[in-house]
Amino acid sequence: MWPKVIPLTRLLASLLLASLLLAAAVPTAAQATAATFDALWHTTSLRDQLGSRDAVQSLALAQLRKELPEGDAHRRAMLRYLECTSQPGDPAEAYAFAARWAKTASETGHELSERVMANLCRLQFYEFTSTDTPLVPEADQLVALATELGDPLWLGRALEYRGGTQSVAGAHVHALQDLLRASQIYTDAGLTDYADNNLLALGIAYRRMDDPVNATLFLQRALANAQSLEAWQSVLAAQLQLGYLHEDQGRLTAAEVQFREALRTANDHRERSFSATAELALAHVHLLRREFGPARVLLDQAEQHQREAGDVSERLTLAFYRGAMMVGVGQPEAGVRLLSRAIDGWSQSDQPRYLAEALADRAQAYETLGRTDAALRDYKRLLEVRERLHANMLNQQGLWAREQFANSERQAENVRLQAAQQAQAAQLTAAQQARRWQGVALLASGLLLAALGTLLWRQYLLSRQLRALTVTDPLTRVLNRRGIEIQATQSLAQARRNHAPTCVLIFDIDHFKRVNDEQGHATGDVVLTRVAAVARAALRPYDLIGRVGGEEFLVVLPGTDLATGRLVAERVRQQVQASPWDDLHPDLRITLSWGLTGVRDGEQDLATPLRRADVALYQAKHAGRNCGESVV
Ligand code: GH3
Ligand code: MG
Ligand code: MG
Repeated sequence: MWPKVIPLTRLLASLLLASLLLAAAVPTAAQATAATFDALWHTTSLRDQLGSRDAVQSLALAQLRKELPEGDAHRRAMLRYLECTSQPGDPAEAYAFAARWAKTASETGHELSERVMANLCRLQFYEFTSTDTPLVPEADQLVALATELGDPLWLGRALEYRGGTQSVAGAHVHALQDLLRASQIYTDAGLTDYADNNLLALGIAYRRMDDPVNATLFLQRALANAQSLEAWQSVLAAQLQLGYLHEDQGRLTAAEVQFREALRTANDHRERSFSATAELALAHVHLLRREFGPARVLLDQAEQHQREAGDVSERLTLAFYRGAMMVGVGQPEAGVRLLSRAIDGWSQSDQPRYLAEALADRAQAYETLGRTDAALRDYKRLLEVRERLHANMLNQQGLWAREQFANSERQAENVRLQAAQQAQAAQLTAAQQARRWQGVALLASGLLLAALGTLLWRQYLLSRQLRALTVTDPLTRVLNRRGIEIQATQSLAQARRNHAPTCVLIFDIDHFKRVNDEQGHATGDVVLTRVAAVARAALRPYDLIGRVGGEEFLVVLPGTDLATGRLVAERVRQQVQASPWDDLHPDLRITLSWGLTGVRDGEQDLATPLRRADVALYQAKHAGRNCGESVV
């Protein structure tokens, strides 16, 4: 009998234990709904951030209302936030709704988190209702509130918002700092989806800071991310931005292709406001090409779409483009009227970049009308605005260079700290051998050191990540060595997959030391910058160019065989030689020599082809410079 009884009691006992454990492990009903709510909230919030305003989203909101745990003020505010940001229809009404919420939330009895959410929603709608400058002071307040709250999600969102406003206001370095910090906060908190969503804003900020390399990198990642999530509004925004980037660099055909794709995406989804933006962008390309007929059609469509969407944020842009078109088709009076509307609007809101373009057009119109006084006044203003723009850009780029310098300093500091820590650890070991009886005390300090070590290691990783983001040479703005190595490896892999040839070209400025010695280092720097720009312009958009030594540049030509590579190399050499240098010094002549090779099967990185190209370059130098050599 016993053998049967014992297992039974054991079974009962274990059942009891199991049920006790289960009771502890299984969450209560309230915890369960909270967890369901949170999971659903994050999905809905991410879709919302990516711009989805569809039936799926309304269903999700209805479901969230059901899952809302009773008496949970924080989650009620979270729900309200999504209701607020996903309001359909007129943005002005949406803003009014959000403003009312923000006002109530600021009264006593409401949680801090609700104030953050309400204000974030309100500020996000602000940009649609006004053409004024963005609200940096209000964004500061929002960040301060979110910092007080200390929740990574909302702090990240607040920083993203402020970064965006600063980017528009021309404070590009501050914008980048905020956006990079938001990404870091998200990543640390495991909110990687939010970090991915931030790529687009980072790309835009880099574009506005005139850093096409980083801008392309981030925008392409953002586009791929949005495409994989089928988040078409973000796809659209990334397409538009890539188009602007092409346009900034004078690649009008490539810009047009991107804008057309964006327009198709917008039309497919009946998003009028985005259609209008894409049409305006396309119209601008036509205006730049002086194709006024197609420009007019697009401007009419954009106006129609703006009206349907109730979006006034690009009203002045429309007036500006229409004005430019009128001037172009020989109706300067009408042109002046429209341009003046845009100019007056932008003068108040301090948008120097657009203002400069519009002033230039109006000055031209005045000239045609024979009103030379008015034209002169506009040219004077134009000069002022350009100077201000230029000064701001230089200032921003200077700030950024300092920021990057500070980063490398921090990193050096980390290395110093690590060395100090190692020395300390060695001392501890010695002490341990000498005084074993103090083991306990030593163990405690060991733990402390380990914690310190982890902390330092994290800091080191963080600064490494930050540094990894910089792939541009600050002087010439082409890739730096790290940048071209990273991108070339990808490019070579792609070429291998497609069985396409790739060429590696290296060129080096001739007798550059003389330029420095005779004309000074500053002139040398200008020469380097111009050579990089001339070479970049002589290459195709997807060719890679990087500065890999003092006056040495590396070019990777995907899909190019050796014969074509030679033509490209010669084109670069001739264009550099033909560039005007006499503004720097009347006798200044700049030439370069090049070495070229084709990448062979099995070569996965640049190391070996680079050596071959280097040998070829050396031969070219020996052959008398201002020429090139190639090896298979
Ligand atoms: P070669 O035709 O044989 O290439 O002669 P070179 O004088 O160009 O070559 P060399 O390598 O002797 O000199 C390169 C010079 O480039 C020396 C260095 O001072 C200068 N240099 C390196 N980096 C920079 C920089 O960032 N700015 C300026 N202005 N000069 C630089
Ligand atoms: Mg040289
Ligand atoms: Mg050299």
